[in-house]
Amino acid sequence: MSNVICVIKFNYPSSYICYLAVMYRWFGVQLNPQFMGIDLKFFFVRAGMMGWLLINLSVLAKSVQESDLTQSMILYQIFCAIYIFDYFFHEEFMTSTWDIIAERLGFMLVFGDLVWIPFTFSIQAWWLLGNKVELTTAAVVANCFVFLIGYLVFRGANKQKHVFKKDPKAPIWGKPPKVIGGKLLASGYWGIARHSNYLGDLLVALSLSLPCGISSPVPYFYPIYLFILLIWRERRDEARCAEKYREVWKEYCKLVPWRIFPYIY
Ligand code: NDP
Repeated sequence: MSNVICVIKFNYPSSYICYLAVMYRWFGVQLNPQFMGIDLKFFFVRAGMMGWLLINLSVLAKSVQESDLTQSMILYQIFCAIYIFDYFFHEEFMTSTWDIIAERLGFMLVFGDLVWIPFTFSIQAWWLLGNKVELTTAAVVANCFVFLIGYLVFRGANKQKHVFKKDPKAPIWGKPPKVIGGKLLASGYWGIARHSNYLGDLLVALSLSLPCGISSPVPYFYPIYLFILLIWRERRDEARCAEKYREVWKEYCKLVPWRIFPYIY
């Protein structure tokens, strides 16, 4: 806040310096800083994911203690546990993602990892503690289906890109990959939309809220936030790739016109 006031009060050169100071703190300066041999980006993400799991487990313990363990709580807990353990199991895939290759480590990432992830991604669990939801069998099956499809697309797309970066000749869905300009993968999930991995993640996020029913928008905070974040992220990534790959990117866009949602966006 004081930085913002400072920008308003000072004349042009000083305001500009203040503006830069705010931006550097917010977005950070170094891309992959290390402290005593520890990669700080991975350190903070791990802490955030563990915090999310611990909060979920605390809420689960509370509902068991109060003999109030519902079907909705079980569904939410299982989906989240799979998603979080999957992160640690496939952490290597993170090395080819935007956060690692393009985002600098500043307040935004650190706050996001240590506060935003554990405390806001677990809102559904908090909400379920104080609200009863009756789910029909059809709703439970549909919920599991959304999670499964989302998880397969999310994990599959991120894995395909990671495998491609390591070995551009590795088969995708059992066939030789379609490659544009020797650099961009245009088959598998990456031939359906330019960010199918975002679509998968959004479906997973939705499936974490569906156990809460549709009586309140509160438990839908996470999918709504993720939707906004990923649309913004996709725009920034698009600009970065257009700048980096130039003609090759144009060719990829022609071949794969959909950004995230096939036939919609
Ligand atoms: P991506 O993993 O999609 O990484 C984008 C980069 O991949 C591009 O900059 C480019 O980098 C490369 N790339 C893009 N298209 C191709 C292609 N066709 N072939 C080869 N390389 C390509 O984005 P993110 O890092 O943003 O997302 C990773 C995952 O993390 C997603 O599933 C996302 O949903 C999830 N996520 C979740 C969040 C949450 O809060 N739950 C927040 C943010 C992300 P290069 O220069 O290396 O080619």
